[in-house]
Amino acid sequence: MPDRFISVPLTQAIGHILAEDVVTDTPLPPFTNSAVDGVAVRYSEGRREWTVAAEITAGHFRQILLREDEGASIMTGARLPEDADTVIPVEDLIPEGDHIRFRDGARLKKGMNIRRCGEDMEVHVTAVTKGTPITPSVIPLLAACGKETVNVRAPLTAAIVTTGDELVPHSTVPAADQIRATNRPMLLTAVFRTGITVKDFGIINDDPGNVSAALRQLMEDESVDLIITTGGVSVGTRDLLRSELHTLGAEELFWRVRMKPGTPVMFSRWNPGGRSKYIMSLPGNPLSAFVTWTTLFAPSLAPAPPRRHYAHLNSSYSKKDDKRHILCGQWQSSSASGLPAVIVSGSQSSGGMTALARAHCLIIVPEETAELRQGDIVECIPL
Ligand code: AMP
Ligand code: MG
Repeated sequence: MPDRFISVPLTQAIGHILAEDVVTDTPLPPFTNSAVDGVAVRYSEGRREWTVAAEITAGHFRQILLREDEGASIMTGARLPEDADTVIPVEDLIPEGDHIRFRDGARLKKGMNIRRCGEDMEVHVTAVTKGTPITPSVIPLLAACGKETVNVRAPLTAAIVTTGDELVPHSTVPAADQIRATNRPMLLTAVFRTGITVKDFGIINDDPGNVSAALRQLMEDESVDLIITTGGVSVGTRDLLRSELHTLGAEELFWRVRMKPGTPVMFSRWNPGGRSKYIMSLPGNPLSAFVTWTTLFAPSLAPAPPRRHYAHLNSSYSKKDDKRHILCGQWQSSSASGLPAVIVSGSQSSGGMTALARAHCLIIVPEETAELRQGDIVECIPL
């Protein structure tokens, strides 16, 4: 898929992937400063008393010459006077007349409570590397490099195509044999959440000419990187996606997987002149569409690889086929092992939406597992 780049303000960069190496333009921290509120002194073996000669607060540096028996009151983040080498925390000092005295039993060590210039990072070194997913935890370092804007990979654009003669927009009241197209807003939002720009192609009829025209238009549209369809990919007489994609010259990468719900899912590539465009064709059943998007496609498009989560099963489950089952689950309070506990919850019918709406996670039952008992460890995908 194409690599395009855009510049975005740092404060809007969350979810993007950094497309440049970001280098420090100052040492971090930029000057040696105090790590505590205290008194800055020149360390001298055995000395326990000082007079306070000055005060330096953060942002208000004053160069002062300290004698060995003098200290400067200093606040956290304030620049250290040149000849001070140690900061004694306020908590370890007792005022006595015009003196301060070091508290008996406290620990005094030369060099303590000082943050050296460049100790976090030197100047002109790479602070954040190209390819890093931008999360709130990376923002402080990018900001410390003075970045107002950052170059990031342009998000991919996906066209969402909803197929089905029986579907009406969800804000419409359906007629006797119609249903609301619920996969359409699900995909528009779920795909958007992966950091992808979405374009709603609307609902198209199960008519070969329509399906073919829509696919051709989107394949040739340079602004569309990915096509995500829902419905029409199974084995019914009006399931036209597969045959129309074949006719248009798309290469089938897979069709039908050993997974429940979601078996009919298909993945294709259209590759004219080496410029690949991928087509993800999800089944129409609401749970199947959600599960195939979440488990098969979203992980490869997310900026960072998904983390694996495990839990103790607090219910049981058995199956008779050799498919991977994906179940709606609900967390329960932690089990004794420290792992979360989870139960299979609600009807797992692929046509339903209620169990999904009430689920906290999806539970993965591997192909070869026939039975899960209470206490077994299962892999889960938090929702
Ligand atoms: P299909 O995959 O087209 O055979 O559809 C399977 C089932 O999912 C049928 O009951 C459809 O009515 C239903 N369905 C298809 N598309 C959607 C959609 N966008 N939203 C909700 N249900 C759908
Ligand atoms: Mg259909």
